[in-house]
Amino acid sequence: MNQPEHNKRNNERHDEQGNAATSGIAGIVVELPNQQHRRDVLQLLLGLTALFGLFFSYLNWEVNFPLSLTELILAIYSLVLLFFSRSFKQQLIMSVLFLVPLYTLILFAISSLGTSETVYVWLLVVPVLSHLLLGPRYGLVMSVFFMSIGFVLFLIRFQHNPAIYNLGAVSNLALSGIATIVFSQVYEINRARAHRQLLHLATTDNLTSLANRTRFLDVFERERNHAIRNETDLTLLLLDIDHFKRVNDTFGHDVGDEVLKHISAVISDRLRKTDLPCRLGGEEFGVLLPGACLRKSLRIAEDIRKNIADNPYIGKGKCISLNVSIGIAEHGADGENLETLYATADGYLYAAKAAGRDRIESRELGVNDKCDSGDESDLQSELD
Ligand code: GH3
Ligand code: MG
Ligand code: MG
Repeated sequence: MNQPEHNKRNNERHDEQGNAATSGIAGIVVELPNQQHRRDVLQLLLGLTALFGLFFSYLNWEVNFPLSLTELILAIYSLVLLFFSRSFKQQLIMSVLFLVPLYTLILFAISSLGTSETVYVWLLVVPVLSHLLLGPRYGLVMSVFFMSIGFVLFLIRFQHNPAIYNLGAVSNLALSGIATIVFSQVYEINRARAHRQLLHLATTDNLTSLANRTRFLDVFERERNHAIRNETDLTLLLLDIDHFKRVNDTFGHDVGDEVLKHISAVISDRLRKTDLPCRLGGEEFGVLLPGACLRKSLRIAEDIRKNIADNPYIGKGKCISLNVSIGIAEHGADGENLETLYATADGYLYAAKAAGRDRIESRELGVNDKCDSGDESDLQSELD
């Protein structure tokens, strides 16, 4: 292949915002923020708990030694959890390991006679922390469980203290506890919904509704790790619409947009649920095929190419014949990471264009090109 010309093609590629992409697929692999928010909150709380634990341990040292010692132990325990929180992946378990001892200490402080009479106000942090760290469902369970015990301990401790054990004070605590649980629920449900919507917007191409580049990078990394771990196949198809500029020039940009949606739908129709079609930018698409070897991918690519050629865009009073060229790269034989796989697939795509378009190019299939995962006959049943 003519390398300078190929590089020029790369440099001319534009992303969805119309900004020139400097080279291939290079970009930051983002960690899509699913647990990130809660991990940050947990780390902050662990730090605060360590500080408060030391402070209260100092305060209670003379007054209530057992409680003071427990507070000191909790402070040290929080520091240990904080140390491991970066590497420990099970966010939910880590949160429970933090919350249960903390809540137990709060209950212990409420039931201990030596502590301040206002110590029960700490019960109100239970729903807030539980919801922030565990989400609405587990947060609710944990809040109701510990607050109910706390409320009973509060009644037992102050039953002989008329200044606190009266209808007004008791209902204040009960109602403020319920209100805090309700607010925490509403807040967490709305936050989670807004987060999902934001994530969808950030990872979806708004014209075609396919995955965008950001999501593609994220999913690729996961699928690649999976393929390496389980020794399964993974292939990348790069598709580019042939002479798409002519569609725009002849029928206008709006029709061009409709054509992009039409092509996206035809591509998606031929894929399994586990495959990931993506609009990489402009009129270029990527398809990630987990579990598909080169042989399988060639068949899928050929079906896509043929379906697009056989199904012209019909709409707005127009019938527009379309074709795509496709380059294929297989994980392992054609490259180990997205950069190299993309560069290889792009090279084959360029070769397909140079050879006359409406065709597929890939590495030559050799006798050793067997599929790691599944049998070729699986393919049709997977697709049906
Ligand atoms: P080739 O066969 O070599 O790929 O030729 P081509 O005309 O498809 O490729 P070229 O790179 O010359 O033109 C791509 C065109 O795609 C130019 C650009 O205006 C158009 N395009 C990119 N993004 C969009 C979009 O979102 N909507 C529309 N309607 N057109 C777009
Ligand atoms: Mg094109
Ligand atoms: Mg192009």
